[in-house]
Amino acid sequence: MKLNAWFVVSAWASLLASIYLLVAGFIGAEVDESLVTAFVIFLCFASGHFILGIYLKCPNCGKRPTVQGIRAIHPSSEKSAGLDGWAVVVINVIRKNQFRCIHCGSDYNV
Ligand SMILES: [Zn+2]
Repeated sequence: MKLNAWFVVSAWASLLASIYLLVAGFIGAEVDESLVTAFVIFLCFASGHFILGIYLKCPNCGKRPTVQGIRAIHPSSEKSAGLDGWAVVVINVIRKNQFRCIHCGSDYNV
C-alpha cells in the first residue's frame, strides 16, 4: 500500500513537471527532451499505481481502496485539504501510515 501511495505522489509530481515543461515550451523556452522524459516518468509511475491498485484490496469488502468508480464513496470516508476519495487514502498512507477504505469505511494501519 505504501509503495502504491508513493507511485501516485510521484506520478502527480511528474505530471506537474510535464505540464510545466509543456507550458514553458509553448512560451518559447528550450525544453529539449525533458518534456518527453518527464512524461515517460509519469507513465511509469502511473502504470505502477495501476498495477498495484488492481492487486491491493480491502480485506473487509474486497474492493480496491485507491480505485474510485462512479459510485458514491462511503459516507465516513475521510476528507483532507479539500480532497476526498482515493486521493485522501494516498495522502493518509504517506502522512499517517493509516487509511480508511472509501468503499466500506474500515480503518487500517499500514
Ligand atoms: Zn473496504
